[in-house]
Amino acid sequence: MRDDAVDDLMEELHKVPVDERYLQEAFSAVPWDKPVSVLVAGSSWWVCRYCIAMHGLRAAEIPSVPYVFPSELGARRHIELEHG
Ligand SMILES: [Zn+2]
Repeated sequence: MRDDAVDDLMEELHKVPVDERYLQEAFSAVPWDKPVSVLVAGSSWWVCRYCIAMHGLRAAEIPSVPYVFPSELGARRHIELEHG
């Protein structure tokens, strides 16, 4: 691929609002409604795919984005309420 094409793509991506609808369409193979199990500092947690995609791995540092949950059920509730 030409470098110009990559530059054009990056410019286009910066114009796109990255919301739930965009993520579902652009990454259609990702099961967005299912939380992901992660191991952090020896403990198991559940995280929200949308929050990671929109805010990054350090989303937990944003108080209004509670994307790490001790249970899968809690994570599912968050996804339903915040991204449904
Ligand atoms: Zn979320």
